[in-house]
Amino acid sequence: MDPATLEPRVQAIGRDLAAALPRGGKGPLRALDEKAMDYAAQDAELRAALFRFVDVVPACRSLDDLARHLTAFLDDVGDRPPSIEAAMRMGDSRAGRAALGGAAAVGVRRMAHRFIVGATPADASAVLRALWQSGVGASVDLLGEATVTSAEADRYAARCAEALDALAGVYAGLPARPLLEADGAGPTPRVNLSVKTSALTPLLRPDAPDLGREDAAGRLRPLLRRAHAAGAHLHIDMESFDSIEAVTDLVLTVLAEDEFAAGPSAGVVLQAYLRESPAQLERLLTWTREHQRASPLTVRLVKGAYWDHEVVEAVQHGWKPPVFEVKADSDRNFEALTRRLVEARAGGAPVRIAIASHNLRSVAHAIAANEQAGGGPADLELQVLRGLGDELQAALAATGRRVRTYCPVGDLVAGMAYLVRRLLENTSNESFLHDQATGAPLDELLAAP
Ligand SMILES: Cc1cc2nc3c(=O)[nH]c(=O)nc-3n(C[C@H](O)[C@H](O)[C@H](O)COP(=O)(O)OP(=O)(O)OC[C@H]3O[C@@H](n4cnc5c(N)ncnc54)[C@H](O)[C@@H]3O)c2cc1C
Repeated sequence: MDPATLEPRVQAIGRDLAAALPRGGKGPLRALDEKAMDYAAQDAELRAALFRFVDVVPACRSLDDLARHLTAFLDDVGDRPPSIEAAMRMGDSRAGRAALGGAAAVGVRRMAHRFIVGATPADASAVLRALWQSGVGASVDLLGEATVTSAEADRYAARCAEALDALAGVYAGLPARPLLEADGAGPTPRVNLSVKTSALTPLLRPDAPDLGREDAAGRLRPLLRRAHAAGAHLHIDMESFDSIEAVTDLVLTVLAEDEFAAGPSAGVVLQAYLRESPAQLERLLTWTREHQRASPLTVRLVKGAYWDHEVVEAVQHGWKPPVFEVKADSDRNFEALTRRLVEARAGGAPVRIAIASHNLRSVAHAIAANEQAGGGPADLELQVLRGLGDELQAALAATGRRVRTYCPVGDLVAGMAYLVRRLLENTSNESFLHDQATGAPLDELLAAP
């Protein structure tokens, strides 16, 4: 597929989508806490402090704990904005810390409601039903990041199993949405759950990948059985680079077992910011041809959420980063992988394609490539994150595209790491949403990378 011949169609689709964006297409960041976003965007030290804070949040047990860590990290920030200075003074005493924790919780809760659809799948059911009614599918992600003991991994697996049953109840009896329920390869499940391997095992370590893989497999198999029984799709998210081999091996090994040939529908994630992602995609495509399953493997193509982490980690060790260091390289690779996926499917590879991006250009390019390869609207799933992709989601649904929204479910403390990661990612000067929010012209937003 020649990218040059695709280009006029990419531009036309991009313009149609932009015209369909609600609220004049300023993007979701304008609606968030602008001050927090501006500070985080402008101040590298503050970004670094928040970045370190993310790592400890899952281990915090209370608001007091959370406030103590936050003030400790902010201590490193040299030129602090007045509101942060005031917050740090509050963190000096126990009562102040509780107040800071409480105040942070109010602000965070307001922001969190945009990103997190409920504390439990039952809480989330009204949002999930409303999305479905408006022609939008969901993939539910149970928040709760670091798992350090087997008991925590067991609890996460049990929550996932319960969620599959609860979600089957939520979606039963909802009206038919043909675009979301079948594609050229056959029926597709209504219920869709995303799971994290790092939550399924405390043993996911780069120095002993087999140990983590085996331990996670012991919890993944019962979940796959449960998903099959509930007629649900199970998607395994991708995390940082040091776990990629173990996660990919886990999914491909378990799904290749005879017992799972008949189902459930399942999927993996490919991160386009990785230099080795083209080779990873070839591995996945070879696997799909060698292992015929009742449901084709879904490949969710993303750019990757751990860019800062991968770069910092590599610099610390004196390695060349495994990720591209120029944003346009990730964008170009994302487009090349998109074309490879649609061409492989057109050539008979049993693969379903999900394009997960808020970048109008990346999405328009995928729609154009799918069309040119002969795919219909149901054959390309476009995925967005709740709270960040709401406007794009509306534009995609309004223009007759198949769209699914990734919906985190969980409590506030577990949600903090997720929230801060989204904040960091989207206040980066190189983020599409940042460019959109700061009024970059459409020509620039849609330009080929
Ligand atoms: C439904 C859904 C599911 C997701 N699941 C996962 C998942 O399982 N695993 C995962 O890792 N991510 C996941 N993500 C997040 C995703 O990887 C991106 O971080 C996010 O979508 C931003 O990319 P974009 O195309 O929307 O925006 P853009 O603004 O176009 O791209 C931003 C991305 O570009 C890359 N980038 C930024 N700066 C540079 C640079 N200097 N050099 C090279 N590359 C750079 C980074 O990947 C950054 O996130 C998911 C996203 C969605 C929408």
